[in-house]
Amino acid sequence: MALNKSMHPRNRYKDKPPDFAYLASKYPDFQKHVHTSLTGRVGLNFKDPEAVRALTCTLLKEDFGLSIEIPLERLIPTVPLRLNYIHWVEDLIGSIDGDETAVEGPRRGIDIGTGASCIYPLLGATMNGWFFLATEVDDICFNYAKKNVEQNGLSDLIKVVKVPQKTLLMDALKEESALVYDFCMCNPPFFANQLEAKGVNSRNSRRPPPSSVNTGGVTEIMAEGGELEFVKRIIHDSLQLKKRLRWYSCMLGKKCSLAPLKEELRKQGVPKVTHTEFCQGRTMRWALAWSFYDDVSVPSPPSKKRKMEKVRKPLSFSLLLPTVKLLQAKAPSIGCSAHGSLDVVTAWVEKTLTDLRVLHKRVPSGNAERSLFLTAVENSWIHVRQKRRDQRRQLRELPRAPPSGDGAVSQTVENSPHPDGPHSDSPHPMCSERPRGMDVVEDKGGVNNGSDMVTEEVATGAGCTTPPPSSSSTQPFLFKCLTNMKLEGTGEGVKEEGDVTLQMHWVEGQNRDLMNQLCTYLKNTLLRLASNPQ
Ligand code: SAH
Repeated sequence: MALNKSMHPRNRYKDKPPDFAYLASKYPDFQKHVHTSLTGRVGLNFKDPEAVRALTCTLLKEDFGLSIEIPLERLIPTVPLRLNYIHWVEDLIGSIDGDETAVEGPRRGIDIGTGASCIYPLLGATMNGWFFLATEVDDICFNYAKKNVEQNGLSDLIKVVKVPQKTLLMDALKEESALVYDFCMCNPPFFANQLEAKGVNSRNSRRPPPSSVNTGGVTEIMAEGGELEFVKRIIHDSLQLKKRLRWYSCMLGKKCSLAPLKEELRKQGVPKVTHTEFCQGRTMRWALAWSFYDDVSVPSPPSKKRKMEKVRKPLSFSLLLPTVKLLQAKAPSIGCSAHGSLDVVTAWVEKTLTDLRVLHKRVPSGNAERSLFLTAVENSWIHVRQKRRDQRRQLRELPRAPPSGDGAVSQTVENSPHPDGPHSDSPHPMCSERPRGMDVVEDKGGVNNGSDMVTEEVATGAGCTTPPPSSSSTQPFLFKCLTNMKLEGTGEGVKEEGDVTLQMHWVEGQNRDLMNQLCTYLKNTLLRLASNPQ
């Protein structure tokens, strides 16, 4: 999904989401939870805790060689999000880029509230050889965490300790008074009460309900005062412990928690403070870190960088092989004799652009790619949509046949497939209230495999709200863009067939929303052409 592009650059799932089909063929326990849609897409029901658990256990096994057990009634971690946090800790302690100010020797961290999975210590120890003190209040979580450490042979690196509820860092550190830790991390219980846990008050009311299940026991997801109070308690412990840890950090479930916590740190005179965002799937999380060391280097917050990336990001959507095949079968009708996926899709794109009177010409490109340079001089796609809407209205307004008649007209209108095909513009999913609205079936637990979908920018731009360009404009064109058709999964050897991704790169013009509109129009038209009978 869209936010995956903003994953941490070292996150292994950033550009390579898990291949569900492959994992299902290798792991029978995972296979039980996947389903294949009519278009051949392999998916998972993220509302089913067993499916989420199966995915987590399978990814940990496949990608990290870890075998873990988690009870269904405790929080089931999603791997891409946890990895984002681990990579940020690497940035903080400078363990990757050879930060000169960073200390030498093995790194030591504390995971406050490690959960049944003990996921942060297991990942940190496996990936980086970090030592961990992992704390937990809940008996069930504590027992599972210990078992997960032992069964992966990591007891030398990870020590799991049971702590009383009232304590956070102080008691856990009493025993080892001399040691300096490089960092602490924490995924705190997010919610103050049952209502918040159910999404009341904590989310913007216009947002859809979460797309994945919230697993987790009471102490895991709820703490008195919610995450704000929980993190404030860590801040107060840190004010006593100061340089016993080089970095203190905490994840946050709500963006609005950031400002009051930063203010608290400012009031307390903490010298180094930074924050970040963790983006994956449809989920965003935030994290805060602070240090009492003057010599640590502080990674800068991501907001500016992300905004810049967003502006430059191309729009894209993918056509899966079954769709491409349908287009192939119909290609002779437009005089296209080519068979390769790329040439067929390119021919259909050219035909659609010609129909729209959008100027286009081929430009040189690589083997697994075709490129078209587009110049749009008029907003013809809006007119086509308008025309279709008018036609539909006229049909609706035709007098209905009396009940005793043959009923042909009303039946045709009401029961026939939508005149615009399955991806019509009324009401378009992109016009819905979803903040990152997408015509996407499932969240991949923070990752997605790509499919017949348009990525975030198209979805949010929506092409629904932009008024037609003003006629007073002095430019002789609306916009110019470079459109690339790419064959997916093409390695060294050049393939003929496969999924095709279309990307539109902004060059110049009046308004990027116009390119959003055209991208949406192209996608809907290609899908309609593929699904319409000959
Ligand atoms: N770190 C895991 C679990 C996070 S849920 C993950 O990211 O998946 C929060 C955990 O904190 C729960 O397991 C809960 O039992 C534990 N917890 C709550 N209060 C605590 C405290 N005072 N000290 C240590 N752990 C605590």
